Amino acid sequence: MSRPPVPWDFDYEVAAEVLKEHVSMEDLANKYCREVRFFRSPTFTHSCKCPSRRHKGGFEKKSSFFFSEEGKFYKCFACQIHGDIFDFISLLEGTSRFESIYEIYCANGSGELPTTTRISNKEFSDTKLKKELELSSRIRDLLQSYKGKPQYPWLCTWANSVFIRMDETFSKIPNGEISRILSSYNQFNIEILRKVEEL
Ligand SMILES: [Zn+2]
Repeated sequence: MSRPPVPWDFDYEVAAEVLKEHVSMEDLANKYCREVRFFRSPTFTHSCKCPSRRHKGGFEKKSSFFFSEEGKFYKCFACQIHGDIFDFISLLEGTSRFESIYEIYCANGSGELPTTTRISNKEFSDTKLKKELELSSRIRDLLQSYKGKPQYPWLCTWANSVFIRMDETFSKIPNGEISRILSSYNQFNIEILRKVEEL
């Protein structure tokens, strides 16, 4: 099943902060890991078998994987992987951090997505930015629809050249409010680049 693309204005930083308050690392571990147990230490609250497929194919015999329910981070002392709840989802679902935050938010959030648009609609419609962002959204949809087809590598190369031009456009907009939009937009670009690297 292919995932719907992450909206360009999804404010992943705000979403990550909200989720860190509400998502339980223990619930995630119970979903993905074997033998989750309490473990009292100054740093960690639980141990379990490491779920990484790169670690003994996901079937390690010892429990080298530790996590903190309060701190929402993990570490495997055998294969050295470590990170927070979003890295954990990325590790197990093969998604990027950006996509992981989006997916957990859609699964746990209460409806509305946090968005980066902090300027008024009038201001926003007046900027070239809006057109560029709509275009980038369409490019993303286009890339999705061509995935696996022979034209896909060529389209990715073309998309990157468009994104470079957009970056130049954005760098000329002297508006502090736009920086948050750019933060998401840059993440969006990184996603495209990552997909190209996967080819
Ligand atoms: Zn491991």
